[in-house]
Amino acid sequence: RAKQNGRNTLAHFNPRQDKQVQRCQAQRRRIEQAILCDELCLHYQPQVDMATAKVVGFEALVRWQHPEEGLLGPGEFLPLTEGTWLEILLGEWVLKAVLEQLACWQGEGNELPVSVNISPAHLLAPDFVTQLSGLLATMPAVSPSRLKLEVVETAAMQDIAAALKVISHCQAMGVEVAIDDFGTGFSSLTYLRQLPVDLIKVDKSFVRDMLEDTSDRAIVESIIYMAKRFNRALLAEGVESIDHATELLRLGCHLAQGFGIARPMPADALQGWLAQWPKRREWQGLVASAVE
Ligand code: C2E
Ligand code: MG
Ligand code: MG
Ligand code: MG
Repeated sequence: RAKQNGRNTLAHFNPRQDKQVQRCQAQRRRIEQAILCDELCLHYQPQVDMATAKVVGFEALVRWQHPEEGLLGPGEFLPLTEGTWLEILLGEWVLKAVLEQLACWQGEGNELPVSVNISPAHLLAPDFVTQLSGLLATMPAVSPSRLKLEVVETAAMQDIAAALKVISHCQAMGVEVAIDDFGTGFSSLTYLRQLPVDLIKVDKSFVRDMLEDTSDRAIVESIIYMAKRFNRALLAEGVESIDHATELLRLGCHLAQGFGIARPMPADALQGWLAQWPKRREWQGLVASAVE
């Protein structure tokens, strides 16, 4: 059949590839169903100021409570949504779910902000700003300042002018914007100069080995220096131990997030975590070692 209609693409028809395409499509349909049936859920990871031991907010991280396969992390299904309309559908689901959670916490007297990861295609979709302001308008009780966005460096790099516009619009609405996984995008310096982001998140890959690897440590030090010079807030991801924390504080990075502080957890576990955090003596003890 391929030869008959002489189309080059069909001439290269490969049943194995075809199978793979079909499998991807089936998986995508399954993800769509998961979004529409609320099988997705959010876990929250605390972010703290190590210099004061105060909790400054949470990052929302999507999970899929799969009926057969159990709890799946974003690495297991987000890649399949990339470049398809599911990416936007999922992004919208997450934004809505976070705003609902914020409204719920507001009622319980918890006013801490939550940051949400926004995929590049979602951020740069023509109606992103309209969608966001529409969602915020449906939740008048939730102050926009309690919602923060995390954007990976590569999103900005795709179209710097467009990204700049969207980020400025968000900030004008009162929604702060962070650059996520900073240092992994290769062009950090130039982009940082142009992008008015409020917070820089040092990628966990540099933090993880900074105590042993002098190159990683040099990168962390440089990012800290740069954030200071550009007057941006800075948060280290992947803080797994008190030794990381001590060193980061010594170098002048105060905000942190990582397994050493808390793993991402379901919303209903946060109250319990918040109650025991002040009793974590080594973390509370860091305050004394904080430098300016
Ligand atoms: P990210 O935004 O950089 O989020 C941090 C990731 O690092 C999370 O993985 C978190 O569980 C993990 N992490 C936190 N502390 C530590 C630590 O101390 N050590 C180590 N080894 N890992 C740590 P997770 O939840 O698997 O998410 C992976 C990525 O998936 C996120 O990276 C983000 O890029 C993306 N993602 C997660 N949720 C969403 C979402 O709702 N929307 C979009 N578009 N992307 C999301
Ligand atoms: Mg993030
Ligand atoms: Mg990150
Ligand atoms: Mg990451």
